[in-house]
Amino acid sequence: MWSLLMWHSLPVIHQGWFGNWMMMITFLISSKRQPRGQWELGTIQSTSGEEASISLSNGNVIKVVRSEILPANPGVLEGVDDLIKLGYLNEPSVLHNLKLRYSQGMIYNKAGPILIALNPFKDLQTNGNDYVSAYRQRIIDSLHVYAVADVAYNKMIRDEVNQSIIISGESGSGKTETAKIALQHLAALGGGGSCAIENEFLQINRILEAFGNAKTSRNNNSSRFGKLIEVHFSSMGKICGAKIKTLLLEKSRVVQLANGERSYHIFYQLCAGSSSDLKERLNLRAVCEYKYLVQSDCTSIDDADDAKNFPQLKKALDTVQICKEDQEMIFKMLAAILWLGNISFQVDSENHIEVVDDEAVTSTAQLMGCSSQELMTALCSHKIQSDEDTIAKNLTLRQAIERRDAIAKFIYASLFDWLVEQVNKSLEVGKQYTGKSISILDIYGFQTFQKNSFEQFYINYANERIQQHFNRHLFKLEQEDYELDGVDWTKVDFEDNEVCLDLFEKKPHGLLSLLDEESNLAKASDLTFANKLKHHLNANPCFKGEKGRAFRVRHYAGEVLYDTNGFLEKNRDMLSSDSIQFLSSCNCELLQLFSKMFNQSQMQSVATKFKVQLFMLMHQLESTTPHFIRCIKPNTKQLPGIFDEVLVLQQLRCCEVLEVVRVSRAGYPTRMAHQEFSRRYGFLLSEANVLQDPLSISVAVLQKFNIPSEMYHVGYTKLYLRAGQIDSLENKRKQVL
Ligand code: ADP
Ligand code: MG
Repeated sequence: MWSLLMWHSLPVIHQGWFGNWMMMITFLISSKRQPRGQWELGTIQSTSGEEASISLSNGNVIKVVRSEILPANPGVLEGVDDLIKLGYLNEPSVLHNLKLRYSQGMIYNKAGPILIALNPFKDLQTNGNDYVSAYRQRIIDSLHVYAVADVAYNKMIRDEVNQSIIISGESGSGKTETAKIALQHLAALGGGGSCAIENEFLQINRILEAFGNAKTSRNNNSSRFGKLIEVHFSSMGKICGAKIKTLLLEKSRVVQLANGERSYHIFYQLCAGSSSDLKERLNLRAVCEYKYLVQSDCTSIDDADDAKNFPQLKKALDTVQICKEDQEMIFKMLAAILWLGNISFQVDSENHIEVVDDEAVTSTAQLMGCSSQELMTALCSHKIQSDEDTIAKNLTLRQAIERRDAIAKFIYASLFDWLVEQVNKSLEVGKQYTGKSISILDIYGFQTFQKNSFEQFYINYANERIQQHFNRHLFKLEQEDYELDGVDWTKVDFEDNEVCLDLFEKKPHGLLSLLDEESNLAKASDLTFANKLKHHLNANPCFKGEKGRAFRVRHYAGEVLYDTNGFLEKNRDMLSSDSIQFLSSCNCELLQLFSKMFNQSQMQSVATKFKVQLFMLMHQLESTTPHFIRCIKPNTKQLPGIFDEVLVLQQLRCCEVLEVVRVSRAGYPTRMAHQEFSRRYGFLLSEANVLQDPLSISVAVLQKFNIPSEMYHVGYTKLYLRAGQIDSLENKRKQVL
């Protein structure tokens, strides 16, 4: 099916275009032999009616339908660093270009104003201190994350406007690594020559990754939270602090794992790397003894050494001034969570469920600071307040397990938030923030699986918001460029995702409002929720109700099928008042603090909390000058050197790189400085002309070859050419040479 889609999107080839030009041809329709759809480079030899004879690079000559052919770019445009320079901006040309550069180790490309970063899946030795200095001395290619950070830094100083670097892409595409590289470069720029800040950032990343990253099927070190790192600079451009804001950690991972995936790294590090003293104090066992960790048949990662990482993590905690006592408390909470997962239930003779009173119970109780009895009561009974009395009612087995898991998730998520708060305190200690900032956004990318749940729902919603930001600014930037260079240009309509955002945010009948409304009804179920959606939202073109509990949303990046199974429960994310009371009664400072924090924010659903967080984040980004980096995953094997064209194309479409290209195409995709242009084509003129200034030479070349005036625009600094024009000039050039 994929190839047919491609087929429909093929533009008609340019008339009068045949000759010795290279052509891309496609085998899309002969999908039995080429099921994944591939392009091949060839040259048109002759045409007859609807058919063309094409000679391929291997010498074979084949016949294809003319409309299956797409124009390729001439050699001069081979492997260009900016896709906007391609005369023909079709999908195969873009792919060909990226692939060629990737095979040469050039992972960075520009697509107009955005940087495209292809994940190399290997160390390219282009990051690190030597490289920073090489870059600063302009020894290396200016196409790098460094260049983006550089531009942001210089703009911040020059314009006194806050900047942001917005990194997006699929899971495993390299967002977090790219964010680290950007941060490293900012530290080098604003660190005043000392490595202290760079080291501090490194240590903070270590902490965030240990507690917020896990091995998933797509990425061995996948971040399970979104983050914005705001780096503060003094008016002199020196770093004077930073602040980390996080977005919704995936806490279900603490208690439930998909096969082949792991829980958060820290659990494995703690079990494998703690000293025997600490092990004894926490009654800690090996990973394989904890049910939460063994359920997925995956306890290790090939290239990670959990035991070695633990002492490094402790050092990182030292760096951000988390004292030894607090560290001990953190580890205690982690051990408590692990033991909690080992607690099991049984049914007694009267069909009541009770906790199996074993080592798991005594260990958990000890770590949490309560008695075994208190813990057991909290886990299997529910207190009901009647007029005179409180009555304890027994929970069902399912309810008891849910309660146990809810407590584990709550402790972990609270611990994560608390840690981020501590890190932030250390970053701002005694430091006055007077100047401007650069924020780096590393958020979970758009996701679509065969079956999509609440997690994909809010992640894709966030991406929809970021996409809107992207659209607006990209369009604006594009226009600014023309304006600056004096190009008279009519606006191009850009595809807006307003309708989809409306579907989510509209009140009272948007996805989020309806979800909250239904979550508040005691009798509601995932099915009643799905029906409600169908009842209210069918008129929105981005929504489609499906059979049973399912519905579809047409996102900017494609259609996604959601299954409402579990939506209400995940959105309510209730911790019973019994549990909270129990936690606050424990003799443990952190648990008391967490339960206090919970009481303050209790009334909000997950969706609402997320929306509020997201709005604050977007609001902050609105006031910045954005710089966009799109990360692309070249293959799903996480291996270097493999460029899966279909996979890359999907992502290019998803993150609308092709849309950017489309906008550019409507304008003037080929841009050449007058100097460059006159150097390349000036010799085609008579000698007298060659002596003139570059701009005049450019104009003379255009006139000499009768390029129609609507096909170009002469800017102050650059010549802007419409698609295809550069080829005809190249053709002339070749004839002369
Ligand atoms: P994401 O945050 O988009 O899910 P990551 O940044 O965690 O993806 O990258 C996944 C993996 O890919 C990393 O663990 C690393 O092995 C590799 N990788 C990503 N970017 C780079 C890079 N610039 N250089 C080398 N390896 C990289
Ligand atoms: Mg990540």
